[in-house]
Amino acid sequence: SKPLVAVVGRPNVGKSTFFNKVVGKRVSIVEDTPGVTRDRIYAEAEWSGIHFALIDTGGIEPESKDVILSQMREQAEAAMDTSDVILFMVDGKDGITASDREVAAMLMKTGKKIVLAVNKIDTAKIPDDFYDFYELGLGEPIPVSAANMLNLGDLLDRIIESF
Ligand code: GDP
Ligand code: MG
Repeated sequence: SKPLVAVVGRPNVGKSTFFNKVVGKRVSIVEDTPGVTRDRIYAEAEWSGIHFALIDTGGIEPESKDVILSQMREQAEAAMDTSDVILFMVDGKDGITASDREVAAMLMKTGKKIVLAVNKIDTAKIPDDFYDFYELGLGEPIPVSAANMLNLGDLLDRIIESF
C-alpha cells in the first residue's frame, strides 16, 4: 500500500493550506480561526511519479483543557500512529513557540521519520530567525510558503526520499 504522510503541527500554521495545494483541490477547510480541521482528512497525492497518501489533522496544542483542541490532539495522535512519515509544520512568522517544542518532543518519541517544514516564509529572502528552528532537534528545517506555493517541490522531494 501507499506510504502515508500525516501533516501535524499546532493550529493555524497552514497544514490545510499545504494539504490542498499538494492534493490539487480544495478538500480541507482553511480558516483564519485556528483549528477548524476537526476530523482527519485523507487524500491521495503524487510527486515525481511516487504515489502516497496524505492525512490532514487538526492542530496539536499540548496541555490544552479545551475540548475541541483535545479532540484534535487525539485525531493527530491517531494519524501519527498509522503514518509512515510525519510532516511537522511550524509557522515561520511566529518563530518557535512553547507548543512547537512540546510537540517536537512528543514526535521524537514516536520513532517515526519526521520532516520539518517552516511555513509562511513568503519571500525569497530567508529571515535570520529561520535558523532557530534547528533547535527543535528534528534536523534541517525546510522553508516553504504553502499559500504562495514556494519551495513545495523541495519539501515533497524530502518527503518521498524518506519513504
Ligand atoms: P491549519 O490550522 O494549520 O490547517 O492552517 P490553515 O491552512 O487553515 O491556515 C491558517 C491561516 O494561515 C490561514 O489564514 C491561511 O491563509 C494562512 N496561511 C497558510 N499558509 C500560509 C503561507 O504560506 N503564508 C502566509 N502568509 N499565510 C499562510
Ligand atoms: Mg487545518
